[in-house]
Amino acid sequence: MFKKVLIANRGEIALRVLRACKELGISTVAVHSTADNAAMHVRLADESVCIGPPPSRDSYLNIPSILAACEITGADAVHPGYGFLSENARFADILDAHNVTFIGPTADHIRIMGDKIEAKRTAQKLGIPVVPGSPGAVTDDDEAMRIAEEIGYPVLVKASAGGGGRGMKVARSRADLSTALSTARTEAGAAFGDDAVYIEKYLEKPRHIEVQVFGDGAGQAIHLGERDCSLQRRHQKVWEEANSPALTPEQRAEIGRICAEAMAKLSYRGAGTIEFLYENGEFYFIEMNTRLQVEHPVTEAITGLDLVHEQIRVAAGLGLSVTQSEVTFQGHAIECRINAEDPRSFAPSPGRITHYHTPGGLGVRVDSGVYQGYSIPPFYDSLIGKLIVHGRNRAECMMRLRRALDEIVVDGVKTTLPLFRDLVDNSDIAAGAYDIHWLEQYLAGEKP
Ligand code: ADP
Repeated sequence: MFKKVLIANRGEIALRVLRACKELGISTVAVHSTADNAAMHVRLADESVCIGPPPSRDSYLNIPSILAACEITGADAVHPGYGFLSENARFADILDAHNVTFIGPTADHIRIMGDKIEAKRTAQKLGIPVVPGSPGAVTDDDEAMRIAEEIGYPVLVKASAGGGGRGMKVARSRADLSTALSTARTEAGAAFGDDAVYIEKYLEKPRHIEVQVFGDGAGQAIHLGERDCSLQRRHQKVWEEANSPALTPEQRAEIGRICAEAMAKLSYRGAGTIEFLYENGEFYFIEMNTRLQVEHPVTEAITGLDLVHEQIRVAAGLGLSVTQSEVTFQGHAIECRINAEDPRSFAPSPGRITHYHTPGGLGVRVDSGVYQGYSIPPFYDSLIGKLIVHGRNRAECMMRLRRALDEIVVDGVKTTLPLFRDLVDNSDIAAGAYDIHWLEQYLAGEKP
């Protein structure tokens, strides 16, 4: 087992990893920017190293500084959290070259899944259902027309180098397609310096359903069920739940089996999330994230497993603590992402937290990096905490969520809490009847 883990992150996830290390008897090193001197992860770690000024590129993304912090402290492994360097294959390679273990997958697997077309090709080869579309980038308009006829309109033109939903255009007919191709190419060229585009069948009202997988890197892999993250705004997840209200136990077992078998074939190591769009009973792969996800606690709630423990075990070569048949799913869990943002405009709201009270009681968990009197710096993303609630079934979970939302106090900054207080009383949400467009429509006043 590792002796000392350096946590290359900040905020709630740095604390989350720190807690797992403590439980496993591993010493912790926090790294931080000068804006985070008073952050909770710095206060609670055994050691801390300042790695640079506030901007992420000079601190949390500064590979030489992080490497130097490993050397100085003698850390034998690095946990990257999510975001920042967590899906940076070069970082994984560099750590490897310096005999520091990267707690995550191999650099090669990060690279494959980081390339949208390569990822889709690999998924298809491994037997994962993908969205019908062009086999790679389309350069020729006639070829694009032919493929679109084959898969049927509407189709979506997507940038190969895409990210954050940019460079995507819907074409509803043959006449639309040539305009969509040229605008998508122009947008992609301007945004990513690469104008390659590809075509996919456009799904009108899908849900976002993702499968949590884990591999030991030696050919064993399991799945830990799915999460439904359909409630999104501008492709940012807002509310996540496990299980998905849309799946039957049979569908869950089937998609889970497909994903676990694929990861076993790949000899995948560590935690991964295979993301799908789901419509009319069919799953369509969109991408794979080769890291721990923000929303992992809902999976922890229903499986009782600590996903960070599992990541550390696997990275240390100890294998997974459970086999597939030992994984059981109990009850229902929901996570609300509490952002320091205006609940309507979503404009960031940094500043000092004047009052802070977290809810408790059976089935309530708060993962957060803030405290009363803490000043949220303006330099990083606005997630300040997550409220995760677990119940024996979805109705009990919603009841408990309503109570916890009533109890929580975060004063001094604007937060997304009022939005959740509205959502928990909404009849569509109560019925689990929502797709990936629901929240945007609701915010635009088009839903009750
Ligand atoms: P990016 O890397 O730009 O975020 P994704 O492929 O992850 O691109 O797609 C971003 C979002 O766009 C998805 O979460 C989904 O909401 C929507 N989307 C992607 N592909 C399709 C599709 N074929 N049909 C409908 N919506 C899609």
